[in-house]
Amino acid sequence: MSNAAYKEMWENLDLDLAAHDALLEVLGKFYGDIYLSQQGRLQGAEYLDFVLSEVHGLRIKELQDAKAQGRKIVGSFCVFVPEELTLAVDAVQVGLCAGADAGREAAERIVPRNTCALIKSFVGFKLAKLCPFTESCDLIVGETTCDGKKKTYEAFGEYVNMYVMEVPQQKNACDRDLLRSEMLRYKAELERLTGKTIGVAELRRGVEIVNAKRKAIQRLNALRVADPAPISGRDALLINQISFYDDPVRFTAKINELCDEMERRVARGEGVAPKGTPRLLLAGCPMAVPNWKLPYIVEGAGAVIVGEESCIGTRNIRDLVDETAVAEATTTEEIIDALVDRYMKIDCACFTPNTERLGNIAALAKDMKAQGVIHYSLLFCQPYTHETFKVEKALAQAGLPMLAIETDYSMEDVEQLKTRVQAFIETIEQ
Ligand code: SF4
Ligand code: SF4
Repeated sequence: MSNAAYKEMWENLDLDLAAHDALLEVLGKFYGDIYLSQQGRLQGAEYLDFVLSEVHGLRIKELQDAKAQGRKIVGSFCVFVPEELTLAVDAVQVGLCAGADAGREAAERIVPRNTCALIKSFVGFKLAKLCPFTESCDLIVGETTCDGKKKTYEAFGEYVNMYVMEVPQQKNACDRDLLRSEMLRYKAELERLTGKTIGVAELRRGVEIVNAKRKAIQRLNALRVADPAPISGRDALLINQISFYDDPVRFTAKINELCDEMERRVARGEGVAPKGTPRLLLAGCPMAVPNWKLPYIVEGAGAVIVGEESCIGTRNIRDLVDETAVAEATTTEEIIDALVDRYMKIDCACFTPNTERLGNIAALAKDMKAQGVIHYSLLFCQPYTHETFKVEKALAQAGLPMLAIETDYSMEDVEQLKTRVQAFIETIEQ
């Protein structure tokens, strides 16, 4: 599609064309500096470059084409929103979390200043008319996780067609029942939105597609155990980010091809950094596209990131829906039970207590042969900042050093962060 045709599409979506052009220009430069400057990238990274270059272009055109065929677009902000159900009505689910400091002033007119950057970003993108994904959505699904998000959805709902799913805060039997009833309520909402009925076959297909996507990322992560690391943390993060908005079937095929290439690279003993490069795990808040600030600093300081303990990372792919239970199910309710079992394993900091996360981080660091953990919290994120203390204690017991970083999307603290990260890497090397 020509640039003029894209402009017409963005105009029809009521974007602020001048501000949007400026945003794309900055992002293009940022991407070039952080991604295209890397040495020894996999050939399969061409897919990542292409998807990123067309994130507001071809992918949005695909969403418009899907709408023209009568399919619905559902936006979400959390890994609790079950894509399996969304796909079962042949709708498209896209992640709307945003990782750029854009539209902040506009956002602060409807949410408090002491709100995390991720929330301010998705609100800012909408109010400043910068997000073609939000504008393409027929329904936006929020969830009652942290206070910041659930109160923001009240204000955000004045601008978009908002639906809020309740997510439990504990993991008792009554909490499982709550999530189950919320899955059924979401199923009914999707059926109302599309006029379709979700049957066993449709739901099975949804599970199959999403499980395949999660398995592809699991395969990728398993290959990252190798030393030298066959892929940079920046590219691995980008893959996780893209998993939220590219077509899931295409994404799975492309990532499996990339894994084939990684396997050959591992067999040859090659990687993106020399053998023995300090290996770090990132843990904490999700890094939404284009939030690449910390990975760039860490890898620029001479370490390699070997895992992301985050929702844009292993928290979203660690557990699959039980395929045997789904194959044996004769009713949609039985499949929903399998979904609930899987989603109740999510160890988000919004749960209290959230003790399984502590063991999961230590186990992941050990599996990935990480020598240290960087715990990342966004400023004003209460859930993850609170858990920093417990995580540090649990990792110390497991013999793993941890660096706690609290930051936002601004670039003002980059030099200070570089100094702290370099000092942490030196400690590990010693
Ligand atoms: S960190 Fe919690 S609230 Fe955020 S996407 Fe993950 S599960 Fe949802
Ligand atoms: S980063 Fe923290 S405060 Fe922000 S949306 Fe996620 S859980 Fe809520």
